[in-house]
Amino acid sequence: MILKDIKEYTKSLKNYFSDIIDKDDQPQLAIIQVGDVEASNRYVKNKLKDCEEVGIIGHRYWFDENITEDELVEEIKLLQDHYDGVIVQLPLPQHIRSQSATAAIDKNKDVDGFKVDSEFLPATPKGIKDYLDYCGFEFEGAHVVIIGRSDIVGKPMAQICTDANATVTLCHSKTKNLDQFIQAADLIICAVGKPHFLNCYSIHVPVIDVGINFDENGKLCGDCFNVENRDVTPVPGGVGLLTRCALLENVILAKKGKV
Ligand code: NAP
Repeated sequence: MILKDIKEYTKSLKNYFSDIIDKDDQPQLAIIQVGDVEASNRYVKNKLKDCEEVGIIGHRYWFDENITEDELVEEIKLLQDHYDGVIVQLPLPQHIRSQSATAAIDKNKDVDGFKVDSEFLPATPKGIKDYLDYCGFEFEGAHVVIIGRSDIVGKPMAQICTDANATVTLCHSKTKNLDQFIQAADLIICAVGKPHFLNCYSIHVPVIDVGINFDENGKLCGDCFNVENRDVTPVPGGVGLLTRCALLENVILAKKGKV
């Protein structure tokens, strides 16, 4: 087992952030939320709590679900001058393209790292990489298998691992013989978004479970199952915490004007 306790790790990171933030000149984060989706309410509440814990000023801007795409873009452009970082909580209502909302954020304020030319690494892959470094995982020469090729997790994760000199296999729904790649991996990062997707029974390498799902009983779960005595990050209390810490760090970096 190489994976270390994520709660302890993120707690010590937050203490560090709290120490380095200038309490007379606090970083400021704007969180844009549209509509009243229960999961989003919970995520935003947690992000605001994180900000408060470390000394970042976090403000939520809540818009009615009937706001148009143009109106939302205009609101983002108007408010971002007053903040070091701006994020848009996803998902947005169907009539608003998330790319349009993200495009409205300046690249030096896009602390979620969603824009192609963002000055920041995307929070989830960055949080995972920093955590694996802390655990002592040796990327150089390792075979990292990533399942899922989204723009916010899989693809940037593949880039980050490649930059760290790992050999990366990026799998997706059209991948043939997925199991063959899984068995040849030194590390698996699973970001599919399906409960009971990855059977870890015969997996003996570390697995980062990115998935956030609800099982048939409405219980929060990841993509992995049969995880007992396996080196798998938990859900909840796993990658979500890493993402939240990476976001805090990006806001601090945005305030300092460098990444
Ligand atoms: P996404 O955009 O829905 O992408 C899912 C990926 O999984 C796609 O690339 C898809 O392949 C692939 N896939 C689907 N079925 C597959 C199969 N049978 N075999 C292999 N690959 C398959 O998802 P996402 O935004 O990356 O998010 C993935 C999960 O991570 C979700 O549960 C999300 O909620 C969670 N998440 C968690 C955090 C966190 O902080 N913990 C952050 C972000 C996301 P195709 O491209 O071929 O369709």
